[in-house]
Amino acid sequence: MAAKVRRNDTVQIMTGKDKGRRGEVRSVLTKEGRVIVTGANLVKKHRRARSQLEPSQILTVEAPLDASNVRVVCRSCSQAVRVGFRLLEDGRKVRYCKKCNEAID
Ligand SMILES: [Zn+2]
Repeated sequence: MAAKVRRNDTVQIMTGKDKGRRGEVRSVLTKEGRVIVTGANLVKKHRRARSQLEPSQILTVEAPLDASNVRVVCRSCSQAVRVGFRLLEDGRKVRYCKKCNEAID
């Protein structure tokens, strides 16, 4: 099945502490069905000191979100929408917005 969410898409988060937040998809973990959204779902990670020059730190990193918890923001109607697939005459499959019917790809 073709992916509904792709890298560089603008998405809106539908659940959790970042509900309503929009961001760009930085990467898609296809196998796990998860996505990493820039600036969203931040978690703190403690990193041990590696040497005296590199002391321990607390890093803030983006944790992956389940792809079903985000929706693509349509460029035409700028709403978080459900995405459908449409087959073009030349056999290509493109995504479209189920709200305004505009092609997304
Ligand atoms: Zn739309």
